[in-house]
Amino acid sequence: MVAPVILYGSPVLRKSSADITEKDYDPRMVVNTVQLRDEAEVEKLLKSDTIWRCGECLSCKTRCPRGNVPGYIIQALRALSIETGLFIESEQGRKQLAIKRTVGDHILKYGYCVYIDEVDNDMYPEQGPVWEWLRENRDSMLERLGTNYKKDQSGTLRNTSKESLNDLKRIFDETGGTQRFEKIEKYSSEKAKELGIGFKEGKDDYFNLLYNE
Ligand code: SF4
Repeated sequence: MVAPVILYGSPVLRKSSADITEKDYDPRMVVNTVQLRDEAEVEKLLKSDTIWRCGECLSCKTRCPRGNVPGYIIQALRALSIETGLFIESEQGRKQLAIKRTVGDHILKYGYCVYIDEVDNDMYPEQGPVWEWLRENRDSMLERLGTNYKKDQSGTLRNTSKESLNDLKRIFDETGGTQRFEKIEKYSSEKAKELGIGFKEGKDDYFNLLYNE
């Protein structure tokens, strides 16, 4: 069984949190702003790139001697930003659609966050020619490497059973993940319409704009 995940920071997007410099992100400022209890200031945060800069590593939880965990506060702000649709006001927030349509949809489709069939060199050129060759020859190569790619038995890269995929869907339904995905799609659709950019599903024009910007 795969645990439900929170889809915020992701290694699949070109500009990950690893690209963010220290000057762009200050969790103390986020916490101070929340403690002000000023709704206008909180709304500014919900519309900002700032709350999407956190890597959700939760190092703050293990390291802070006072037990402060700004990462949890930021998780709550992100949830609220999606709930209210304010995430579409920031560049980093808008990328939630690209993360949902890659990592999120892949979990429900394959039971894997990142799956070889979806990692092609058009989207991930940094994988390089060796990866491209491996992908083209994956049936024979993954067999020789001892994986169980696309097999209905235990082992690396095995098929996730229908029963487990159904369980995953039910977990998303019950924990609010499905509803959150629907909101990301809904508000993104409205933003794409406002910008006059094609919006359907999968890797459409709006997805490609977000993914590459
Ligand atoms: S989880 Fe905590 S330590 Fe990690 S990036 Fe976010 S605020 Fe910083």
